Amino acid sequence: MQIFLKNGDELSLEDGARCSDAAKAVSESLARNAVAAKINGKLTDLSAPLSQGDKVEFVTLKDKEGLEVYRHTCAHVLAQAVKTIFPTCNLAIGPVVDNGFYYDIDFNTPITQEDFEKIEAEMQKIIKANSPIERFELSRKEAIELMTRFKEKYKVEIINELPEDAVISFYKQGAFTDLCRGPHLPSTGRIKAFKLTSLTGAYWRGNEKNKMLTRIYGTAFEKKSQLEEYLAAVEEAKKRDHNKLGRELGIFMTSEVIGQGLPILMPKGAKMLQILTRFVEDEEEKRGFMITKTPNMAKSDLYKISGHWDHYRDKMFILGEIDEKGESPTGEEIMALRPMTCPFQYQIYKNGLKSYRDLPCRYSETAYEYRKEASGEMHGLIRVRQFTLSDGHIICAKDQIEGEFKRCLDLSYYFLDCLGLRDDITFRFSKRGNSKSDKYIDNDEAWKSTEAMMKKILDDLGLDYVEADDEAAFYGPKLDVQIKNVYGKEDTLITIQIDFAAGESFNMVYIDENGVRQHPFVIHRSSIGCYERTLAILIEKYAGAFPLWMCPTQVKVLPITDRTLDYAKNVADKLRAQGLRAEVDSRNEKIGYKIREAKLEKVPYVLVVGDAEERDGTVNVNTRGKEEKVTMPVDEFIAKAADEDKRKVIF
Ligand SMILES: [Zn+2]
Ligand SMILES: [Zn+2]
Repeated sequence: MQIFLKNGDELSLEDGARCSDAAKAVSESLARNAVAAKINGKLTDLSAPLSQGDKVEFVTLKDKEGLEVYRHTCAHVLAQAVKTIFPTCNLAIGPVVDNGFYYDIDFNTPITQEDFEKIEAEMQKIIKANSPIERFELSRKEAIELMTRFKEKYKVEIINELPEDAVISFYKQGAFTDLCRGPHLPSTGRIKAFKLTSLTGAYWRGNEKNKMLTRIYGTAFEKKSQLEEYLAAVEEAKKRDHNKLGRELGIFMTSEVIGQGLPILMPKGAKMLQILTRFVEDEEEKRGFMITKTPNMAKSDLYKISGHWDHYRDKMFILGEIDEKGESPTGEEIMALRPMTCPFQYQIYKNGLKSYRDLPCRYSETAYEYRKEASGEMHGLIRVRQFTLSDGHIICAKDQIEGEFKRCLDLSYYFLDCLGLRDDITFRFSKRGNSKSDKYIDNDEAWKSTEAMMKKILDDLGLDYVEADDEAAFYGPKLDVQIKNVYGKEDTLITIQIDFAAGESFNMVYIDENGVRQHPFVIHRSSIGCYERTLAILIEKYAGAFPLWMCPTQVKVLPITDRTLDYAKNVADKLRAQGLRAEVDSRNEKIGYKIREAKLEKVPYVLVVGDAEERDGTVNVNTRGKEEKVTMPVDEFIAKAADEDKRKVIF
C-alpha cells in the first residue's frame, strides 16, 4: 500500500503495516525517537494499523503532544505500581496536566508522601521490565465485566457514561490493564526520567458531594538533566509562592472557623490593599470615573433581569431556600450575595432620564464580590470566595465604545507600569466563537457583530493576543489580561468586556441627537483587577521585596541605644509628615539583631541612628538589596525617599 508522509513523500509498505513500520522505513533514528503518530491528523499509538492513502505524521518528545503521551504513560506506570503495592485501592482517572500528570486513586487507608519512595522503586521495576503496551477494544458489556472483575468501580461508572457509539479501549502492560483512550508509548522502558512530586485530596469528578480521593502528582522528562532542572525551578518557585510567603510575611492568613477561600488580610496586607485602593480610586477620578457605593446583596429579581439567575446561579451564594428552578418554595423573598457590580450600577444610570450629552457615564467602585468557587479550585489569594474588585462600568453610545475601550486599556497599562507587571502579561481575546452552550445569551447576530467590533479595536491597537473560543462572558466578548503565577498557571488579572445585552435587558435608555430613544452599550472593566489576586501576583513577583510605594512599612528607624531613641522618633515624625510610612524599632535589642530583622521583613530603607548621627543631624541608610551604607542629612534622605515614593520607582 501507499501512504503519505507529512512532507508529501509517498511511502510503499506491505499490507497490514503499522505506524511503527512506516517510521522504520523512514529511518532508524525516527523509529527510535517516535513516541506516537498522527494518522490523517488524529493522534494514535505507533502500533496503529495503516490503510491505503493514509497521511502519517510522527510525534516525538520534541512535540508537546509527544511529551504528553510520555507523561500520560508514566501515569499508567504509577497506577500499576500503586496497584501492585496496594492491591485493594481503586483507580479513578490519570490525565496529563501542565508540567506533568496525576492519578486519582481511592485508597482504603490513606497514603502519605513517605510512601513515594516505595512507589517510585516499584515504578522503576516496571520501566526496567520494558513491557510492551498493547491496546485492545471491548464491547460495553465485556468492558464492564472486565472492570467489575478487577473491582474498579470508578472505571465501571466511566464506561456506563460513555456515549452509545464510543469505542471502548484498554491498554495492557505486563499484568496490568487500564481503561484508556490512549495513545501511549510503545513500551514502559521508554520512560527515562520521572518523579512523584506531591499529593492532595480531590473529589471524584470534582464534586464535593462525592468521595474524596487521593491525587498523586508526578512529572516526567526525556532526560534526567531536564527533570533536575525542572525540580530546581519548582523549589525556587515554592520560596516565592504567595500562599507560603504571604503567610510568613504576615500579609494574610486563613482560619478554619471562618472558612475556605476567605483569606484574612492582616495589618500589613490590609495596609497594602488600602495603598492600592486609594491609588486606583484617585487615578480613576482623574480619568473621569464617578465612584459609587452599592449593596453587597440584592433580591433575586435583580439577578433575573441581569441574566445571572439563569446563567450564573450555581456560582452564587444564595440567602434563602430555592428549588431547582431558582424559586422560593414558600414564596418568601430570596436574596443573594452579588457576584458582580454591574446590575447595581445600572440602577444609578436609570435614576433620571439621560441624553446623549450625559454619555459616557463612567462608574467605578471598589466592590466586594462573592463567587462560590469549588473547594478544589481555591488557592491562597488567587482564587477566593470573597474578593475586592476594582470594578467599573462605562455606559455609552455605540460610537463611543472604541474610544472608551482604549481609555480602559490605557488606564490598566498605567497601573501595570506602576506595579512593574507590564512585561509579565499576555492578552487573550475571549469569544463565544462557535460555542452553542446555553450559558450564553442567545443572539447570534449581536455576538457576531460585537466580536467583530472588538477584534477591530484590538487589531487597531496592534495588540498581540490569542483568541480563545468559549471563554466569553455570557453577555459578550472580553479582552483578558492574563498573567502566570509562580508555578506557571495562568489566570486573568484584568478584563475589559463589551456587553450588547444589558442596555435592552435593563431598559437603560438615552435620547440621541435626533430625539430618539436608544439603548446604550456597556463596557465592564476592572482596572487593577481583583486586589487579592493582584496582591498575590505582587508577592510572587517581588518575593516580598515590594517597590517602595506599596510597602506597608517604607522606612524603619533603629536607635543604636536608648540614648538616641528620642532622635529616632523625631526622624520618624519628619518622615511621616512627608507622607512616608515610618516605624521606630524601640526594643531593647542589639542593633545587629534589629537590622537583621528589618531586612527579613524586606523593609526598603533601614536607618540606623547613634550619637554621631544625632550630633550631625544625619541618618545611616541601609538600602534593601545593597551592601554599602550611606550617611546623609535627614532632610536629604527624606527628599530622596519622598521623590521615589511619588514617582513610584521600582527597585
Ligand atoms: Zn492512558
Ligand atoms: Zn460588570
